[in-house]
Amino acid sequence: SEPVLDVENLRVWYAGAGGPVRAVDGVDFTLRPGEVLGLVGESGCGKSTLGRGLMGLVPRGAAVDGRIDFDGRSLLTLSTRQRERLRGAGMGLIFQEPMTRLDPLMRVSDHFEEALRTHAKELSKKERETRALESLRALGIPPTRYRNYPHEFSGGMRQRIMIALALALRPKFIVADEPTTALDVLVEAQILRILADIRDRFAPAILLITHNLGIIAEACDRVAVMYAGRIVEQGPVDAVFASPQHPYTRELLRSTISLTTQELHSIPGAPPDLVAPPTGCNFHPRCPSAMRVCASRDPIPRTLERQRVECWLHETLSDEDARPLENVEVSVAD
Ligand code: SF4
Ligand code: MG
Repeated sequence: SEPVLDVENLRVWYAGAGGPVRAVDGVDFTLRPGEVLGLVGESGCGKSTLGRGLMGLVPRGAAVDGRIDFDGRSLLTLSTRQRERLRGAGMGLIFQEPMTRLDPLMRVSDHFEEALRTHAKELSKKERETRALESLRALGIPPTRYRNYPHEFSGGMRQRIMIALALALRPKFIVADEPTTALDVLVEAQILRILADIRDRFAPAILLITHNLGIIAEACDRVAVMYAGRIVEQGPVDAVFASPQHPYTRELLRSTISLTTQELHSIPGAPPDLVAPPTGCNFHPRCPSAMRVCASRDPIPRTLERQRVECWLHETLSDEDARPLENVEVSVAD
């Protein structure tokens, strides 16, 4: 099937104290209906900014360019109003910083009524209620609670009601940005169950943003590994996990003790400052395989048998370019 989302050379730069922060710096990927793409990387790699950039929710003054085609429309050419409407009806953001908050003075039913009346005008009152109850049921909220007020639910249930509210609009594309703070009440097992239910019942395309490789293994069809504003490797989860082709992916996988239970552990060195990213490959200061060419020239994206990767190891190089980077430094010092 045709991709529902087609992203090309997307950049999201926002103003920082020391100059523009290149949080997303030239990213390409596509997403087909019903497909779940996991976006993984250390914190600060730009993955949440990418998700927000797709939704049109970037900080004031941020520069967004490149191309985002969603459902046949070019998003970056739409007006703010058109994008807002689309964000209501066609795209949803779940788990983190929901776009809608539950109004304590409104019943759950009123929230659904309002959202569906605004964004699903074709539905009758009866159909709106059916749709709402179906969505709530998918998130494990019993229909008997439909007319309750937000305070009558636990924090976890409120979070699930907000997800149901987003799903009631039947978005074709969802950004699921995994909660990362202690304030978030959904745990990994619940996130996995919710994602599986959403998938089975509604089959939207999902971009799942996480730093947890266990969640990726469990819930995703494909994975995109992000480092310093770039997707350095992407492909089917089984291919990337069994045979990573980028040194950063290898480090990520190695730094995880158990794929099913452990989150990422640190890789030697720190991610670069995105105000002044390294010349050449952004990973070269931390890369165990870095070569001379890596420090001066950006690697070219290359499509291999099953995955797409940005790394000079997959190119034919001159002996000079292929010299280990340490040797270059020594010879410069000489
Ligand atoms: Fe390492 Fe060079 Fe590949 Fe970058 S391009 S990941 S520095 S080998
Ligand atoms: Mg660079």
